[in-house]
Amino acid sequence: MLKNLTHVHRPSTIEEACALLAAPDCKNIALAGGTYLAESSDTTIQGLVDLSGLDLNFIRETSEGYAIGAMTPVQDIFKSKLLKGATGHLLKAAAGRIGSTLLRHSITAGGNLVSVFPWSDLPPALLALDAEVQIRKGIPKRTVPVATLLEKTPREFLDKSELVTEIHVPAYGATTGTSFTKFAKTANDYSLITVAIRITVLQGLIRDVRIALSGCTKKPVRRPEAEALLKGQTPTPERLANAAARAAQNLDLTNDFRASKEYRSEILPVLIRRGIEDALRQIAA
Ligand SMILES: Cc1cc2nc3c(=O)[nH]c(=O)nc-3n(C[C@H](O)[C@H](O)[C@H](O)COP(=O)(O)OP(=O)(O)OC[C@H]3O[C@@H](n4cnc5c(N)ncnc54)[C@H](O)[C@@H]3O)c2cc1C
Repeated sequence: MLKNLTHVHRPSTIEEACALLAAPDCKNIALAGGTYLAESSDTTIQGLVDLSGLDLNFIRETSEGYAIGAMTPVQDIFKSKLLKGATGHLLKAAAGRIGSTLLRHSITAGGNLVSVFPWSDLPPALLALDAEVQIRKGIPKRTVPVATLLEKTPREFLDKSELVTEIHVPAYGATTGTSFTKFAKTANDYSLITVAIRITVLQGLIRDVRIALSGCTKKPVRRPEAEALLKGQTPTPERLANAAARAAQNLDLTNDFRASKEYRSEILPVLIRRGIEDALRQIAA
């Protein structure tokens, strides 16, 4: 509960929203789907800047792939007919595993990325897809890779008056496959382990691969050393198992009431290997 909340603003332009966030005399914070903020007990927040009037609810095709507005409910991503191919497959699989149907109508793409938690489903998928975000500070804008945004936390990366306005996701051709695995105790529970894979195979050789993990770590991570073991190689069962084992090494695995560190470390390489195999089957299909 936001005990010291006194104002709710509903700007109609991004410039106006950023100016409100920049206000020196009042701590205003962006309101997207509100599912995180509704539970927040941050007594320093005085004002909310409701982003719902900013025309940021869209999924569009672009010359490189897709642009997804930050205020797009994740249920719209899950149900999108526009998102296709390997990119669409991964985005829809991740969005469709977020919380419950009711929650997915409120949770936004931007909110899910900015308030990243270990269980957040879109960030590892966006990492695997080499997605970028457009960030606005009034009129000035910059575009940064999701990987850069996630190096610390998005809240630390963003200036207080900056908003994530769009997510740009490349489209990949028929030689690319993707997979998304969320291992949780129930269909609606938070993830114990999340694995997002993108792999491109040309003439029998793995040309490019991304292995992104979450759920078992404090924040989403990519596994470049394991990816390097696969690049330029034929996808044999031994190589996939070796790469999966490498991807599961040297991680500070979460140990909590849902699952022990030991349990996670046992099943993690299995889920990664199966994830790569699933993605490879997407290419064959
Ligand atoms: C019961 C429950 C279960 C859940 N289960 C899952 C799950 O399984 N998987 C999953 O991925 N998520 C899950 N979530 C959602 C997740 O924990 C967050 O609540 C959600 O992602 C926040 O998105 P939102 O749109 O509601 O953002 P808000 O709550 O409105 O905002 C969250 C934060 O991000 C900032 N923010 C939002 N949008 C922007 C923007 N465009 N630019 C800059 N800053 C911004 C806000 O200022 C705030 O600090 C669950 C939530 C609940 C309540």
